[in-house]
Amino acid sequence: MLTRREFNWRVAAGLAGAAAAGLRLPGQEPGEPPVLCAPQLVNPERLRVALDELAGFGRLPGGGTSRLGFSPDDLAARQWLAGLLRREGLDVTIDAAANLRARRAGERDDLPALAFGSHLDTVPNGGNFDGCVGSLGALEVIRTLNEKDLRTRRPLELIIFTNEEGVHYGKGLFGSRALAGLLDPGELEAVDEQGVAVAEWVRRYGGDPDRIAEMTPPAGSLFAYLELHIEQGGVLWQRGIPLGIVEGIVGINRYRVALEGFANHAGTTPMNQRRDALVTASKIILAVREIVTAQPGRQVGTVGAISVQPGAPNVIPGRVEFPVELRDLSMDKIEALARQIRDRGAQLATADGVTLTWELASSHEPALTHPQIRFQIQQAAAEMRAVTLTMPSGAGHDAQAMAQLCPVGMIFVPSKDGISHSPAEYSRPEEIACGAELLYRTILRLDTLEKLA
Ligand SMILES: [Zn+2]
Repeated sequence: MLTRREFNWRVAAGLAGAAAAGLRLPGQEPGEPPVLCAPQLVNPERLRVALDELAGFGRLPGGGTSRLGFSPDDLAARQWLAGLLRREGLDVTIDAAANLRARRAGERDDLPALAFGSHLDTVPNGGNFDGCVGSLGALEVIRTLNEKDLRTRRPLELIIFTNEEGVHYGKGLFGSRALAGLLDPGELEAVDEQGVAVAEWVRRYGGDPDRIAEMTPPAGSLFAYLELHIEQGGVLWQRGIPLGIVEGIVGINRYRVALEGFANHAGTTPMNQRRDALVTASKIILAVREIVTAQPGRQVGTVGAISVQPGAPNVIPGRVEFPVELRDLSMDKIEALARQIRDRGAQLATADGVTLTWELASSHEPALTHPQIRFQIQQAAAEMRAVTLTMPSGAGHDAQAMAQLCPVGMIFVPSKDGISHSPAEYSRPEEIACGAELLYRTILRLDTLEKLA
């Protein structure tokens, strides 16, 4: 008898073999990895049409979409989706933080609801898949249930979170953080370039900023939250795997590093008499990569910005500042890496006659998905005979804030060439439909469970 893994690989190998023999599989362009899954229950064409329609809200003339959170285009897209959800018979409301909530009654409507959803807002000049796939995948789940006339035991709640990207006002996960009681003090009073406060936009969307403080549901009132999303990285695409099961959303620590050397004349100061802060910074930047890649695992480390003072071609750099950002599912690992980088940085600085200061600028804890939900997703994928990969999410998602309220689970579908937050963002319709079907099957499996152990 085959183990599931062997079985999955045989299915994959069979499909890959067909592709290698020149038999093109549906949705596959020449030179691309084959699509190794086929949806059986959801309607891929209906889902594709919905995604196409959504792309019309905030579409840019040169391709791509700008549909910022708290903007007229985003509001119009939400009203469009609210209309579709009402047409499916759902009870649609706007909560205090302006999240769109659509409830489908269960047989036992007193049981804690099973929630799922995503976001409709995009980054400026973004694509049509980030957030859209999860939101309309959730709609497809509802449509499939209605079509099959299936009633779940638990009530279902589809949630579209407000201003997930947070480009507008500079802070992400607005709606989910509000629901989880995680807004920062004064956040509602922040104003944008037009002088409009967050609270005013919440009102324009139909929310009630005065009631946000009391909106967090009591413990145990949500059974779980599930989110389907595009990977936004290239791991699944590169490996030709159609579905990802997310282990957790990585924690992020950002450190502020400053190097103080001495700014002096670049023509008259001999090379051996310099205290060049930028030379030391260069060595530390290389050390970040070396230390982060020296051990196995999926941790990542980045120096994404640098400021050099005084910043002139004829002056030796006297002061350099840059951030070091580290991400992993384990905060212990992040902190251990940070210590190593800081110690190496201090040695390099001392050797160059430069002073290093190192401080923690911000810290976000990792949010792990629930093992029982991961197991149910895995079982549901096995029903579909689809190969999966268990992986961390390197990007932030609403599920991260929801993890403070209830057990969470996430499903990824591949992003072509790993591109996201760009008009070139693309996921194949068959794989999107497989993701929606995996969400559908997981919801039905979780619905049968009394509790999550
Ligand atoms: Zn997203």
